Amino acid sequence: MDNNQKEVLVSIRNLDVVFGRGKKSFKAIDNVSFDIYKGETLSLVGESGSGKTTIGRAIMRINPCSAGEIYYDGKKISGKLSRKDDREVIRKIQMIFQDPAASLNERATIEYIISEGLYNFHLYKDEKDRIAKIEKVIKDVGLLPEHLTRYPHEFSGGQRQRVGIARSIVMEPEFIVADEPISALDVSIRAQVLNLLKKFQNERGLTYLFIAHDLSIVRFISDRIVVIYKGRVMEIAETEELFAYPLHPYTKSLISAIPIPDPIIEKNKKLFVYSRDLHDYSVEKPELVDIGNGHLVFGSPSEIEKYKKVRFG
Ligand code: ATP
Repeated sequence: MDNNQKEVLVSIRNLDVVFGRGKKSFKAIDNVSFDIYKGETLSLVGESGSGKTTIGRAIMRINPCSAGEIYYDGKKISGKLSRKDDREVIRKIQMIFQDPAASLNERATIEYIISEGLYNFHLYKDEKDRIAKIEKVIKDVGLLPEHLTRYPHEFSGGQRQRVGIARSIVMEPEFIVADEPISALDVSIRAQVLNLLKKFQNERGLTYLFIAHDLSIVRFISDRIVVIYKGRVMEIAETEELFAYPLHPYTKSLISAIPIPDPIIEKNKKLFVYSRDLHDYSVEKPELVDIGNGHLVFGSPSEIEKYKKVRFG
């Protein structure tokens, strides 16, 4: 439980991820901390290259942490784990990828793709049980049992993403990292895939980390939002709080970039461009501060005072 009396499922503490060594090294993630509550959808937003995927991959233990820790259900999962804990974490935390064409093995049947995790973790009693599980999940994602004998190239992008979701869901995970799961799909089928993810969340109490750069979609699906800029957290708040009171200038620039459906208003809209030069951190050093109402902003002490005034008067 944290101060807000919510149950924390994933906790990221002072995470650094550094790529490369020596002079060529690059700190993609710099002292990032945030919690993900059980049952919520938390979205990471920020421009391309800000480090969203790197954070997701650090939680998945694909990218090693250079500093800091990641906890899952109170247990440290960054660094070395026992074989038993390792297997448990692999099963409980699943990932859905952006490009379902690239993430599915083209040579394998849908049946094999969905069964692979079950095979690896022996999550079925016998053949009958395995088949029952995959037939149920294929129907749950809106496909048909006869699709099981086919290959990924026989499906549309949306159907392939349904297979990607089935492959995760069949493992009965608790937590899913969804990395831009709809960006590669036709606009017309994006809502269907989002609704499918929501359905599983409602039915199974799943927790999602959703990675996206499209703020209008993020608004529709998230309980809370973490804004990332160049590997650092700029702002964290509940979704409607963030849209009503965007405090950090980078958040404001992201929100101002959301297209407005009215073409005349959109054409005359003033885009707010963010630059680090807006801040003077030569004397006062910035940090991420909780200003109340679950709203955290990155700023120097005088900036934080200003943000508090804007928010609470
Ligand atoms: P996008 O929205 O384009 O996916 P992102 O916010 O997810 O962007 P990341 O993919 O996490 O950003 O990348 C963050 C930074 O880390 C980028 O500058 C990227 O070039 C760099 N980076 C990511 N993976 C590696 C790697 N394996 N080796 C070196 N640099 C990397």
